[in-house]
Amino acid sequence: MSDVRNVIIIGSGPAGYTAAVYSARAELKPLVFEGSVTAGGALMNTTDVENFPGFPDGIMGPDLMDNLRKQAERFGAELVADDVIEVDLEANPKVIKTYSDTYYAKSVILAMGSGYRELGLENEKRLSGRGVSWCATCDGFFFRQKDIVVVGGGDTAMEEATFLTRFGRMVTVVHRRDELRASKIMQERAFANDKIRFIWDTEVVDVLGADKVEAVKLRNVKTGELSELATDALFLAIGHDPRTDLVKGQIDLDEDGYVQVSAPTTETNIEGVFAAGDVVDHIYRQAITAAGTGCSASLDSERWLATHE
Ligand code: FAD
Repeated sequence: MSDVRNVIIIGSGPAGYTAAVYSARAELKPLVFEGSVTAGGALMNTTDVENFPGFPDGIMGPDLMDNLRKQAERFGAELVADDVIEVDLEANPKVIKTYSDTYYAKSVILAMGSGYRELGLENEKRLSGRGVSWCATCDGFFFRQKDIVVVGGGDTAMEEATFLTRFGRMVTVVHRRDELRASKIMQERAFANDKIRFIWDTEVVDVLGADKVEAVKLRNVKTGELSELATDALFLAIGHDPRTDLVKGQIDLDEDGYVQVSAPTTETNIEGVFAAGDVVDHIYRQAITAAGTGCSASLDSERWLATHE
C-alpha cells in the first residue's frame, strides 16, 4: 500500500483551508482535495466580504480564499485540484479515490460545503456579488435605502425578507404561488411589516443590469404576462443542498442531508472522520463559522490521531 496520510481534507472553502493551516502547523502534512472546478469554495463567487474579522476595509472573496490557500501551503499542506469521487471511511486506513488515483489516510475531514440553489437565470451568475445574493446576513448592509427583491416562500425567505427591511427602502417578495410555505408565525411577521410587499403567482425569469442589478424580469404564472420591476438587489432564498452524495450511506446525515456531528465537537459517527463548515451547518452558514469549525476539526483529528497511534 502506498503511503498512508495522517489526514486527508476534502473541500477547499474556509473550513477546508483552515483545517489545512492547523493540521500543517501541527506537522501532520495534510493532503487537501480542492475540487477540480471550484477550488476556494463559495466565496469565489462573490465580490466584497466585509464581515470576515481582520479586514477592516473588507476583502474580495477570491482574495480572501487565495490568502487562506497560500497560508495552508506555507506550512506544508499539499493541495490537489481534483475531485474525490469515492470514499471508504469505515476501512482502516480510510480510502479516498479520485478519477486517477487512490489515497489512504488515518483520518479524514469532510469540508465539502453546500450549494445554494440557483434559479438558473441567464444573468444570475454574471451578477452574483453585484446585486444577486444568497445571504442577507452577508450582503444586506450593501443595500441601505435600496429596493430589494426576495425570491422564495419558506421560512428562510420570510426571515431574510424581514431582516432586509432593516436596510432596504422596500422589500418585495416574489412568489410563484398564491400562498407561502413558511410557518404561520413567520408569515404573520412578514405580513405585519409595512416595508414588505408581495407579488403572488409570479416567477423571476431573469435579472437585468450591465455591471450591477438594475431590474428583474417577471412572468405571471397564471396569465403568462411579462413585466419588469426595477430593483437594486435580488436575494435568492430557495434553499441549499449540502454536498454529501459522496458519503451517503456511510456517515449519519440529518433529514436534510447535512452531516451529523456530536456538537460541540466535529466528530461524526465514524471513528477518525470529522466534518466542518456548511456541510454540517444549516444555521449560521458564514465564512467565519466555517473557518472556526475547520479549526475544531483539525484539533479533533490531531487529538484522535495522538490517541490512536
Ligand atoms: P465551501 O465554501 O462551499 O467550500 C467547499 C469546497 O469543497 C468547494 O470548493 C467544493 O467544490 C469543494 N468540494 C466539494 N465536494 C468535493 C469533492 N468531492 N472533492 C473535492 N472538493 C470538493 N459568508 C460570509 O461570512 N460573508 C460573506 O460576505 C459571504 N458572502 C457570500 C456570497 C456568496 C455568493 C455565497 C454563495 C456565499 C457567501 N457566504 C458569505 C457564505 C460562505 O461563503 C460560506 O458559508 C462558506 O464558504 C462555507 O465554507 P465551507 O468551507 O464550508 O464550504
